[in-house]
Amino acid sequence: MQKTSMLIIGSGPAGYTAAVYGARAMLNPILAQGIQPGGQLTITTEVENWPGIQEIQGPDLMINLEDHAKKAGAKIVPDVINKLDLSKYPFVAHGDNDNKYEAESVVLATGAQANWLGLDSEQKYKGFGVSACATCDGFFFRGQVVTVIGGGNTAVEEALFLTNFATKVILIHRRESFRAEKILQERIFKNPKIEVKWNSIVKEIIGTDDPLGVEGIIIEDIKTKKVLSLPCKGVFVAIGHSPSNELVKDQLDTHQGGYILTQNNSTQTSIPGVFAAGDITDFKYRQAVTAAGMGCMAALEAERFISETKK
Ligand SMILES: Cc1cc2nc3c(=O)[nH]c(=O)nc-3n(C[C@H](O)[C@H](O)[C@H](O)COP(=O)(O)OP(=O)(O)OC[C@H]3O[C@@H](n4cnc5c(N)ncnc54)[C@H](O)[C@@H]3O)c2cc1C
Repeated sequence: MQKTSMLIIGSGPAGYTAAVYGARAMLNPILAQGIQPGGQLTITTEVENWPGIQEIQGPDLMINLEDHAKKAGAKIVPDVINKLDLSKYPFVAHGDNDNKYEAESVVLATGAQANWLGLDSEQKYKGFGVSACATCDGFFFRGQVVTVIGGGNTAVEEALFLTNFATKVILIHRRESFRAEKILQERIFKNPKIEVKWNSIVKEIIGTDDPLGVEGIIIEDIKTKKVLSLPCKGVFVAIGHSPSNELVKDQLDTHQGGYILTQNNSTQTSIPGVFAAGDITDFKYRQAVTAAGMGCMAALEAERFISETKK
């Protein structure tokens, strides 16, 4: 059994930032990396919105964060936590190979995953024209035609945001009305750059191999069965995200479809001593820098929790 004042689960920007702050607060943090060391940014290319670095490859940024956490004194373990017992204190986590951790505080930083359409062509062009984040990648499509897939708030917000860069945004929705809030819908209908294709599903994303890049999509009208090819350079899939909450969904309060609920302006969850940071709790911003900010908050709050508990 390895004992620590702070167990961090997850190695994205939230987890590594919590590790830096936890180590500097002498909490001897242990960070379990999980199956995706470095988190979501390891599957992207250029990151151009991490303050202080104009452009960096996602995997390189995450190596920098890992090095920083190690040098600050955090113990980084390549382990996947498969069970977390929050019913007793100190908390106990079980990893692969019968590893066990006893923790005075836990920072949950297990992130989220975008939902995808499931097409082979979508997989092929991910990061090369196919994206699930307009805030991250919209800038790369200045002066181009892009498509957005979805009909909820996220899809509608992403379509509106993309009109800042694209010459035209085609919103493809499989139903004949949006689920998004009425006020957002009004903005969509008023925006001359946005065209909506109702009752339509994406059949294929087409593009070039050398260089790898999107050239268009093929959609089908599910009522008329008519197939249409739409030229575009970017495809934004906006059909929701799934928070990685399997370890705690039956132990902690959640909201908004499974995101961990935290107190206002805090990372404190419904169990004292358990903190949530980054995309596991953030259904709104979903950015590396906001995840890192929450990782900082979680470590500072864990430090305060531990010193109060010991009084
Ligand atoms: C393709 C793409 C491009 C993006 N581009 C940008 C961008 O340019 N700029 C930007 O700001 N944001 C971008 N984002 C969003 C950004 O990546 C996320 O907001 C950010 O990574 C969230 O960080 P996080 O620390 O919450 O978790 P994540 O990065 O999601 O990491 C979660 C971590 O938890 C670990 N984990 C999960 N379950 C377990 C377990 N049971 N045990 C141990 N570990 C576990 C995983 O292995 C992973 O390391 C992009 C996202 C994607 C998908």
